[in-house]
Amino acid sequence: MFPQCNFLRKTSTTGISLNRSRVILLAVTLAVIGISIPVSFALYFSNVRAAQAEQDRLSLFARQALLRASASLRDAVGTLRVLEREELVPCSAAHLQKMRLAVITTRSIDDIAYFKDGRVQCSSMGEVEAPISVGRTEYTAAKDLHFSLSPSPLGESDHRMIGMFYNAHKALINPVRFADILLDDDIQLVIALSDGTLLGGIGNPDAGMIGKIATWTYRQKDGDFLHARAEQGDLVAIAVEPRDRLIVRTQHEMLLLVPLSLLIAALIVGGVVWRLRRHLSPLGELKSAVKRREFLVHYQPIVSLKTGECVGAEALVRWQRADGSMTRPDLFIPLAEESGLITQITQQVMDLVIHDMHLMLKKYPRLHIAVNLSAQDIQCPHFLGSLKTKLEENCVSQRQIWLEATERGFMNVDAVRHTIETARKQGHSVAIDDFGTGYSSLAYLQGLRMDALKIDKSFIDTIGTGAATSTVIDHIIDIAQSLDMVTVAEGVETHEQAEYLRARDVKYGQGWLFAKAMPPRDFIGFYQANQLRTQG
Ligand code: C2E
Ligand code: CA
Ligand code: CA
Repeated sequence: MFPQCNFLRKTSTTGISLNRSRVILLAVTLAVIGISIPVSFALYFSNVRAAQAEQDRLSLFARQALLRASASLRDAVGTLRVLEREELVPCSAAHLQKMRLAVITTRSIDDIAYFKDGRVQCSSMGEVEAPISVGRTEYTAAKDLHFSLSPSPLGESDHRMIGMFYNAHKALINPVRFADILLDDDIQLVIALSDGTLLGGIGNPDAGMIGKIATWTYRQKDGDFLHARAEQGDLVAIAVEPRDRLIVRTQHEMLLLVPLSLLIAALIVGGVVWRLRRHLSPLGELKSAVKRREFLVHYQPIVSLKTGECVGAEALVRWQRADGSMTRPDLFIPLAEESGLITQITQQVMDLVIHDMHLMLKKYPRLHIAVNLSAQDIQCPHFLGSLKTKLEENCVSQRQIWLEATERGFMNVDAVRHTIETARKQGHSVAIDDFGTGYSSLAYLQGLRMDALKIDKSFIDTIGTGAATSTVIDHIIDIAQSLDMVTVAEGVETHEQAEYLRARDVKYGQGWLFAKAMPPRDFIGFYQANQLRTQG
C-alpha cells in the first residue's frame, strides 16, 4: 500500500542497553573474561593432553612388554611340560640330551635342572657332582608352577636368575627375557609377579616403587614418576617415566594451544571492541534508547491570544538517558530521521501522550494535544491505524489529537495527500509546522487541505524589529486566513509580539511568554489553574 515506506531501516534489537560507563565496565569485564577463559582452557588442556599422551605411551610399552613376557613364560612352561611328559630316566643321557635341546630351542630358558627331594640332581649342563639345594619357592602361580629368585648358574653374583619350577624340573630364566623390547631412553620397564616380585626389567627400575605399583599401593600423584600398568594372569608389566617428561610434553602442547587461544581471545576482544564502538556511537545509543523506551514527553501550552485560555499543548519529546541526563530533540531527531528510527519514536510519543493525557482529554473535551510527525511518518502513515485503536480504547476523541507536519515531509505529494486526507477523515486536525522555512510553502498549500498553520518562531522574532522580513509575517497571516486555517504563532517571548499577533487576529500563541514545555504532571496543574482563571 505504501511502497515508499521501504526507507524504513530495520534496527537491531540485540544491543546491550546500558549507560555509557556501565557499557564500558561490562565491555572491559567481557574482554578480561574473553582473554582469560581461552588462555586458561589452553593451559588446562595442554596439561590434560600431555598427561593423556604420556599415559598412552606408557600403556603401549607396558602392554607390549606384557605380551612379550607372557609369550616367554608360555614357551618356558610348554617346554617343561614336554620334558615332564617324556618320562625319561632321570639324569640319563637321553634326559640330559633332551634338557640341552630344550635350552637351545626355547629362547626364554637359559638352563634346565632336574631335582629330587629339594636338591638338584642334574642339569642341561650335565651331572651335578654334589646335589645342590633348589632354593626357596617364593611365589606360586598356577597349581604346579612356582617361582624363585636364584643365583646365576655361572656364578655371577650380581646377576640373578628366575627359577621356574614345574614338577621335577626347574628352568632358569634370565630376567631380561621377560622385558626384552625396544624402549625409549627415559622409560623404565619391569615385569613383576602380582605380589610385586620383580622378574625382569630394563632401565634400572626402583624395586621399592615397582613393588608398590605392582600391588596398587602407589598412586600416580605420589611421586616423581608417571606409570602405566598392564596385567595378565600372574604377570604385571609396568612402564615408568620421570614426571619431568610431562613438563616437556606440556610445553609442546602449549606451543600449539596457547597461540590458538590467543587468537580466540583476540577475536573475542575484537568482537567486544566492535560491539562497544557500535554501542557508544550516537546511532548505537539511539537504537538502545528506542529499544529501552527511554523517551518521555513534555507539554508546551498553546493559548488563545484573545482570552489567555489554554486550548492545548504541543507534545515535545525528550530523551532521558539511563544516567538521568536529558537530551534535547534537535540533537537526536535528525539522526532518528536519517536512520529510520523516527517512526518508532513517533509511536512511542503517541503512546506516551495517551498514557499521560487520556484522563485529561476525556475530562476536558476542548483540550487538544499536538504531536509532531516526521517526513517518514507522513510518507508512511502506519501510525494512524494504531493511533485510532488506542484512542478508542481510552475513550479519547480523535479530534483531540492534532498532527503537526513540516513541509520537509512533503516530497511525495500523492503520499502526503493520502496521509493528510486519511488523518482528517479520522477526525484529527492537521497543522503545517514551521511554515515559511521551506521552499515550497505556497505550492502545496493550494493543493492540500489543512486545518492550522504554525508561524515559525523566526518570523515572530522579527516583530517590532523593523527588519525587512518583518512584513513577511503579515503575508503569512493573510495566507492562512484566506485559506481558512487556524493560525498558531510559535516562539512568542514578549508582550509586544503577543499584542501584535492579537491585533492581527492570530488565534493561538505558543511560547515562553506563556509557558515553557513542562512534564505531564506540571502541565495538568497548569491547565487546571488556567481553566479556573479563564473560565471563572
Ligand atoms: P518545533 O516543533 O518547532 O517545536 C517547538 C520548539 O520550539 C520546541 O523546542 C520548543 O521548546 C521551542 N520553543 C517554544 N517556545 C519557545 C520560545 O518562546 N522561545 C524559544 N527559544 N524556543 C521555544 P524543542 O522541544 O527543543 O523541539 C525542537 C524541535 O524538535 C521541534 O521543533 C520539533 O521539530 C522537534 N521535535 C520535538 N518533539 C518531536 C517529536 O515528538 N517528533 C518529531 N518528529 N519531532 C519533534
Ligand atoms: Ca512542532
Ligand atoms: Ca515549529
